[in-house]
Amino acid sequence: MAEKTVLTLGRIRFAVQLVMLFVTVYGSVIVGTYMADKISNALPALSCAYDQMNGGYCVLIPTQHILHHRIGEALVRAQQLTFGMVLPLLMTFLTFFAFFFVIGKAFCGWVCPLGTLQEWIGKLGRRFGIGVRRFVPGDLGNVRRVRPLKWLILLGLVFVLPLATGLGVTPHSLGNPYCDICPSRVATTLLTGNTEQLALRLGDGVSFTLGAIANLLVGFTLVGALALRQPFCRICPLLAFNAVFQRLSPMRLAKPSREKCGSCHICTEACPMDIPEISQQEGRKAYHEECTLCGRCAEYCPQDGVIRLKWGPWSLFSSSRDYYKGRVQRELPDGTVKPLKFVKSAARTTHGAADA
Ligand code: SF4
Ligand code: SF4
Ligand code: SF4
Repeated sequence: MAEKTVLTLGRIRFAVQLVMLFVTVYGSVIVGTYMADKISNALPALSCAYDQMNGGYCVLIPTQHILHHRIGEALVRAQQLTFGMVLPLLMTFLTFFAFFFVIGKAFCGWVCPLGTLQEWIGKLGRRFGIGVRRFVPGDLGNVRRVRPLKWLILLGLVFVLPLATGLGVTPHSLGNPYCDICPSRVATTLLTGNTEQLALRLGDGVSFTLGAIANLLVGFTLVGALALRQPFCRICPLLAFNAVFQRLSPMRLAKPSREKCGSCHICTEACPMDIPEISQQEGRKAYHEECTLCGRCAEYCPQDGVIRLKWGPWSLFSSSRDYYKGRVQRELPDGTVKPLKFVKSAARTTHGAADA
C-alpha cells in the first residue's frame, strides 16, 4: 500500500524555498524586471544585485548605497552645517540671550559704544553752548514718524536681503547689507586708529553705494549728535531687535501707576529718546520699545518712587525728590550744562559787540 503523502510544515517550507529561489535568482525572467523590482522593494530579499536575472535588489545594497552616498554625505554636510553655521549661530544667540537676560535693553543705555559716543558728543555740544534740538512736534517733526524706520532696517537689511542673497536672488554684494552701512563699524574702528573702514570699494556699484551710505551715516551720527540726542539710536535695528525680547529680561523700567505722577513731562524732557509715553502712560506702555534703559527719566522725575529701574522684584533705582534736586544743580533735564569758561566769555564778547 502506497504511503500517504503528508503535508508537513517542512514540505511547505521546502516549496516556499523553491519558489523563492526562483524569484530571487531568476525572478526578473519570470515576472519581468519592473514587477520584480516592485516585489523586491515591497519584500526586500537577499538576492544579489550583481545577478542580472534576479527578482530585484538585495536590501543590503540600497542600504549601503543610501548610507554611503546619501546619509553619509548628508551627515558630512550636516556636520559642516552644524560646526560651520548652526553652532556658531546658536552660540551667538545663546550668548546674546544670556547677556540680554541679565541686562536687557540696558545694553543700549550702558554698554553700546555707538550709544556712548553719541551721548558724549552731545555732552561736548552742551559744553560748547550748542542747544539741544528735540524730536518733538513743532521742532524736528514727530518722533513717532521716525520709529518705523528701525523695524524696516531690521527686516530688510538684517533678515530679508541676506537670505535673498543666500538663495541667489540678490547679488553677492548684498550679503551683509546692514554691516556695510553700519556707522558703528566705521566709528569703532576709527577709535582704534584704523581708517580702512572709511574707504569706498570701487568697481562694484552696490558695495560703493553701501559704503557711501555708511560714511554719510557716520558723519550724520557723529556731527548730528552735537545737537540731537542719540540720532542714530532712533533708526538702529539692534534697538528694534532688543525691543522684540524686552519683556523676557528681568531688567526693566517700571512706572506702575500714574497716581503720584504730576504730569510735569520732565521725564520726557530728560529722555534721550524723547519718549512721550514715559510721562503719559503707566504699566507696560510706559516701558516703550524705544527705551534704552538709561534711567534718566527716573533720575529727573521729581516724585518719590514713581519711576523705577528694576531687576526682577528688586528696585535698582527709584525716583526721588531729593535726588532730583541735586541732579538739576549739575545738569538740566534736556542735558543743558554750564558751558566751558572760554565759550562763555566768547559769547559775552560777541553779545557785547552786537549791543555796541
Ligand atoms: S540703539 Fe543701537 S546704537 Fe543706540 S545704543 Fe542701542 S545698539 Fe547702540
Ligand atoms: S524712558 Fe527713561 S530709561 Fe528709557 S530711554 Fe527714556 S529716559 Fe532712558
Ligand atoms: S517726571 Fe515723574 S511726575 Fe513728571 S510726568 Fe514724568 S513720571 Fe510724571
